[in-house]
Formats: sequence, C-alpha cells, structure tokens
Amino acid sequence: MSKILVALKRVVDANIRVRVKPDGSGVATEGVKMSINPFDEIALEEALRIKEKGAAAEVVVASVGPDDAQQQLRTGLAMGADRAIHVRADQPIEPLAVARVLLKLIEREQPKIVLLGKQAIDDDNNQTGQMLAALWNRPQATFASKVELSGDTARVSREVDTGLETIEIDLPAVITTDLRLNEPRYVKLPEIMKAKKKPLETLALDELGVDITPQFKVLNYAPPPARQKGIMVKDVAELVATLKQRGLL
Ligand code: AMP
Repeated sequence: MSKILVALKRVVDANIRVRVKPDGSGVATEGVKMSINPFDEIALEEALRIKEKGAAAEVVVASVGPDDAQQQLRTGLAMGADRAIHVRADQPIEPLAVARVLLKLIEREQPKIVLLGKQAIDDDNNQTGQMLAALWNRPQATFASKVELSGDTARVSREVDTGLETIEIDLPAVITTDLRLNEPRYVKLPEIMKAKKKPLETLALDELGVDITPQFKVLNYAPPPARQKGIMVKDVAELVATLKQRGLL
C-alpha cells in the first residue's frame, strides 16, 4: 500500500522575534524556541488526513539537519506520523542539497505523494519542492490549498496571484502546501508518550552519497531598518499638508 513522505524542517518558532547576530554572520538561535516549519505542519496534517481517509497506508516524516532536528521529528510522530528519518547535517544546507537528499529517500521509500511546505520561514527560499520534482522527473503542484485524490491522480487547487487555479496531476508527485490547506491538529500528551516508541532512523549524509557543496555564499545578514515613529495630526488638512511637505502627495 502507498506511502506519503513529508519533509519537516526545524526552524526558529514563528512567534519568536528573530535577532541577527551582532557580527552579521547569521540569526541567533541559541536558547531560542525552535519548531516545525509551519507550512510543513500543514503538509503533515494533510498527509495524516489522507491516511485517515484510507488513501495511504503509512506517513513517513523526514528532516535534514542537526541532531536537534529529532525533536521536530518526534513532534511529527506525536501528531500521527508512523515513522521518521533523520538525515544528519551539521552545516547549513541549501534547497538543492535538501532536494537531492529527499530524492534518495524517495528511491528507498517509493512514496505515492511527497508533501513539503511551500517555503521554509527561515530562509524563505520556496525552492526545494520545485527542485525535487525536477530531479525526480515527476509532476508538481505547488501552493496547494485543496488536495483531492482519485486513484492515481490528484486534483489540486493552487493559490496563485490571480486567485485559485485547479490542476490535475498524475501520481507519484510533489505537492507543496499553502496556509489555507488545513489547520494542523494539536498534539496530545498521550501521543507524545507514544511517539517516543515510534521508529526514528538516523542516516549520515555520506551514506546517501549526496553532494551538498553550497552553490552560493551568504555575505551578510542585517535586520530591517527600524521603523520611524509616527506623528499625530489634528485634522485632515494637517495630514494633507504633512504628506505634501514630505513629497508623498
Ligand atoms: P525552502 O525551499 O527552503 O523554502 O523549503 C521548502 C520546503 O522544503 C520546506 O517547507 C520543507 O518542507 C522542505 N525543506 C527545506 N529544507 C528542509 C530540511 N533541511 N529538512 C527537511 N525538509 C526541508
């Protein structure tokens, strides 16, 4: 029976105010709450719903990252995934390398659907799903807000600039999730306990024989410029005069 593979990235929690390190070499993560990338939680929720409807037999979650990424995999298992694969990478890893790793996992696992978030909220790349579909040479449906399966096809509504686009793709395929697809379930305590006993396999990058050489070099990180304080105006006339004075009208 068919499997669904879901990619989970460990990122700084969406509710944390991100701080750039004083030397501009990256974002401070020490002592900072980390979570599953929100779009990946949506991807996992969708996979679980597909399985619950009887259209898949197993949901496998995978993450490429440091040992701590196992925390997010355990959360994925507590949400309901059956099994987890951790591919250990201590260095930052770019979308192309992640796509290559996921392709290796696809070759091993032969999933019917590979679900990813549309983007990781740390680097905002929005590349991995598209690159993976190209490497795998299979169809892709990105920015999904509705997924309906029927045999060996999926009908996917996509959030595009002009509204919603509905496409039909042959499976196996890559689907990346948008915000409105679903609302991920909360994890209950008994599930957290149960998740500790679920299988979590760790693989070394070397074992997979994937080239992860960076394709680009980040020169510097900088916080956005601080917003200027607003001013109060007493009426519309003063507002218009101020806007004109600043060349905004
Ligand atoms: P990105 O292309 O970096 O914006 O990421 C898009 C999606 O690819 C994410 O939402 C994840 O589903 C997946 N992804 C990216 N990096 C990783 C990673 N290190 N481990 C697992 N999944 C990842």
